[in-house]
Amino acid sequence: MDSTRSTSRPARRHRRQPRTSSARTLAQLLVAVFVLVQLTCSSTTAYPTRRAATPSTTSHLYAPARKSFGPALTHATYRHALPRRPGTANNVATGALEYLTPVSGAPAGEIAAAFVAATVGVPVDEVVVMASHRSEHTGVSHVYLRQVKGGVEVANADANVNIDRLGRVISYGEAFFRGSVPTAPSLVAVAETAAPLQLHQAGNGAQHASSPTAVDSATSAVKIDPVAGYHALLRHLGMHDAVAQTSAAAFRLDPAMSTTTSTKHKLFRGTIARPAHAESDVVVGMTYLQTSSTSAKLVYEYEVELRDNWYHAHVCAATGAVESLVDWVADAASYEVYPIGVNDPDDGDRVRVKRPELVRASPDGWHSDRTTIGNNVIAQENLSGKADALLKEGELSAAYRPRSGHKLHFHYDIDFAKNPKSYLDASITQLFYMNNMLHDLFYAYGFTENAGNFQADNFGRGGVAGDPVVAFAQDGSGYNNANFATPPDGKNGKMRMYVWNTVVPNRDGDLENGIVIHEFGHGVSNRLTGGPHNSGCLAWGESGGMGEGWGDVWATIFRHRSADRARRDYGPWHMGKYANGGTTGIRKYPYSADMDVNPSTYSFLNHQGYWGVHAKGEVWASILLEVYWNLINDLGWTGDWKSAAVDKGNTLFNQLVVDGLTMQPCRPTFLDARSAILQAEAVLTGGRHACAVWRGFAKRGLGVDAQRIAGKNPWDDDTRIDGFSVPDECRS
Ligand SMILES: [Zn+2]
Repeated sequence: MDSTRSTSRPARRHRRQPRTSSARTLAQLLVAVFVLVQLTCSSTTAYPTRRAATPSTTSHLYAPARKSFGPALTHATYRHALPRRPGTANNVATGALEYLTPVSGAPAGEIAAAFVAATVGVPVDEVVVMASHRSEHTGVSHVYLRQVKGGVEVANADANVNIDRLGRVISYGEAFFRGSVPTAPSLVAVAETAAPLQLHQAGNGAQHASSPTAVDSATSAVKIDPVAGYHALLRHLGMHDAVAQTSAAAFRLDPAMSTTTSTKHKLFRGTIARPAHAESDVVVGMTYLQTSSTSAKLVYEYEVELRDNWYHAHVCAATGAVESLVDWVADAASYEVYPIGVNDPDDGDRVRVKRPELVRASPDGWHSDRTTIGNNVIAQENLSGKADALLKEGELSAAYRPRSGHKLHFHYDIDFAKNPKSYLDASITQLFYMNNMLHDLFYAYGFTENAGNFQADNFGRGGVAGDPVVAFAQDGSGYNNANFATPPDGKNGKMRMYVWNTVVPNRDGDLENGIVIHEFGHGVSNRLTGGPHNSGCLAWGESGGMGEGWGDVWATIFRHRSADRARRDYGPWHMGKYANGGTTGIRKYPYSADMDVNPSTYSFLNHQGYWGVHAKGEVWASILLEVYWNLINDLGWTGDWKSAAVDKGNTLFNQLVVDGLTMQPCRPTFLDARSAILQAEAVLTGGRHACAVWRGFAKRGLGVDAQRIAGKNPWDDDTRIDGFSVPDECRS
């Protein structure tokens, strides 16, 4: 950011951080032990290998949440009858569709169960309807089935069947189990194995009867008791201190729980009385779990509600290996924020944004827990303005963050009559949201793991992991500014947002999206230019100026709304106007296509007052925005930034900018950056929009006849000559 009137700390610094800890080493050992144990339980169990694929130097800043995983069922299928060849004249013209079953008047559940039983070849009495509903707008019934063996469910043997209004199956998916399961133990057998739990004393005597053979088989499938299985789960979660908080005596069998649809297909249900580390009783059951189409085992099933996670886990009853883990918390994040398209509190209202993540960019969502810690961004307050020490592991985890309930709802009030500290939760939420949005948005344009983006876990997709953006809201180390530090890939980007004291009550830069966008933009342009390992390519001179300019460009275009297209002057757009008190921005000129409002041209760089990077950046942004406006004039505009569509002006522009960053050399000049964007256009759209790009550059002096005459000093003694011409083929 940097306003013209204030100075602050250097924008970029490299800092070496401690990369090992004894706790980490212990955790790795335990993980290794569990992998070995698991191999004895099943050689086909899918284990989350992608975490192991990232370098061991990742995620030192916080304890990473254990991610959801489970057996990979390669036999899972999804089949649908329509349309077999989408878009062919045959289907379109006749509407003739092939159905998987004929018309039927039977209830949907019966149709579905019979269909799946016949298709997969399992007995009808092994198929149970877990849920069913009919969509009013399509008339399609959606039936959800689970397979049971001897009345006990195979927890991950699911099927879904879709049936049209005439009772015809139109599609289905299934991953039913094809093999034979271990014989289920009686509760007596479980009790004998699990002594001293004495499960049989807790009731449910009907299940005592069991053949000796069954008991023998069962005792091989059940070797640990429910509490020992829970301890194994706690160790998997890294909660070693919690193990001692749960003793065997805490387990209670609960016969009454075997009555509802969702619980009756368990071998048993029970609870572990609420341990100190949990929010409620731990729910325990026993089911089968398939690890492949023909291999299954008996598992303990746990529902564990913790402060930051709510786990549903299956643990091998023979070995204690964790076979699957689902965190229910990650499901429904919602943020009350100024969304992309609303720049600040003067520009529009906050809205509740639900599930905004782009799944391929953030496959595990934005949160690692119920606070503003996640794979892309770790956001917190820094009122005290601590600098070096704060990045140490312990102190960062102790920093204040808003904490949501189970549903990851981050909805906080703002009273603008008060100073920013009073709405810290809303500020951190805004900062977390915006950084994550930008992570996902730029991911769609190619700022991916390989390109050096900011992530704790790179999911084995390349690049160096271990570097989410650490974003400080209301950072007390300065006023009226913001900054972003971009070390090479693998080291955390660091964003500091300041409070602005130019008016009373003070204003919070965190609430002006344009400032956050500008700062995040430094991370994007620095990592993309000259390679992710080289963060020194936009440090000074024209390249440093463009580093500021790209940030202003993104801040300006991401606030664009559909109605703005009708404004022929495209502006004026101010940088930092809200934070700075609401009357004037912090650049010399606001951004506008009107030369009377913003007269900037290439040769302005020769002038006194244009030696600093922010002034140079204004010129670059003013030039580049002309390209943007030309492209939306030609191709229109879409509000769906994450589409990265090449047939819309704004998204094509952003793609060309990102591709240009990737292609331009380290320490580029304005002319280099212009050439890279033109080359990007040629590669992507074959020159179709080259003249629109050229006309944009030429309008502000960066046409084909622009010249740069190098002076004796590389940073500020050059002479630029405006060139307003376009190539011959663009003259019309
Ligand atoms: Zn800046």
